[in-house]
Amino acid sequence: MLNMSREMLQSTHRELEQASYNHDRWYKELIRSIVCRLPHDQRDLSDDAFRQCRFGQWYYSKLPDELNAHPTFISIETEHTLMHRLASILLARSSNGEVIDPIDYDNFASALDRLRLNVESLRHEIEETLYNRDPLTGARNRVSMLSDLRKMHELVKRNTQSVSVAIMDIDHFKSINDTYGHPVGDIVLAALARFVIVHTRPYDHVYRYGGEEFLISMGNTDIETAQVIIERLREAIAKFTAVSEGTINISVSASFGLSTLKADETVEDAIKQADEALYVSKTSGRNKVTVWEESQD
Ligand code: GH3
Ligand code: MG
Ligand code: MG
Repeated sequence: MLNMSREMLQSTHRELEQASYNHDRWYKELIRSIVCRLPHDQRDLSDDAFRQCRFGQWYYSKLPDELNAHPTFISIETEHTLMHRLASILLARSSNGEVIDPIDYDNFASALDRLRLNVESLRHEIEETLYNRDPLTGARNRVSMLSDLRKMHELVKRNTQSVSVAIMDIDHFKSINDTYGHPVGDIVLAALARFVIVHTRPYDHVYRYGGEEFLISMGNTDIETAQVIIERLREAIAKFTAVSEGTINISVSASFGLSTLKADETVEDAIKQADEALYVSKTSGRNKVTVWEESQD
């Protein structure tokens, strides 16, 4: 989910809203036809009613792979299928003039509640993702950075895990703007951010810290492991061609500063230390990773 593009997230959000609206209408019609004993839609009695309703038509249409693999999206299928099976029991009873067993109704109502909860939760996650992302690069924005880091810091204080942070700054980025223009600079920046997001682990978070600076938080990662990970990332970035059009190939390198959250120091201290280490990478030749050391203070 987090790797879906902004456009994809926006269109999924729109479609999900429409599908939920259609589903609410279907539900109201169902209840009306049962309560008033009206003839009901025969499709609601079929084995694949869950595919035929408008929500089902959307669910089984061609959707992004990331969405199909999302755990909440998968749960929606389970609850939606079950809910339709239970609805067809209610309809069959009602159309035969039989009394509906309260247990059957309660089961139906519970499945419907669970379905709605899952749909709401998916919608909420998409909104959160959209709200917390920087539109140009797709990285998380600064809004959530400090609060996320503070939550991780709590785990450090309880001695349950190590958390490392890296600050990355693109080398000589100004010259990319000066040579190719600001719009091309934007494309390079977006391509590079995407590369970093894809090449870090799913539980590492990449934030746009400043113009062409990013902060990478690594949960459950001590400083030695972080150094290996970031060193690998640095090498990969240096080999990566961010823009390739005709005869123009643009590559950039990046410098990094690394630090770790400490139980008796603030999150801001760790960020400041990573920044100081970055400065050392910059002044000692760039395209480097420097780990902050006590002696640097
Ligand atoms: P170095 O970091 O290696 O010292 O050199 P630098 O040229 O990258 O220097 P610095 O980090 O000070 O400059 C950052 C440049 O990045 C200046 C600014 O115009 C550019 N920049 C920042 N944000 C954006 C952006 O969103 N789009 C584009 N195209 N350029 C940006
Ligand atoms: Mg900079
Ligand atoms: Mg720079």
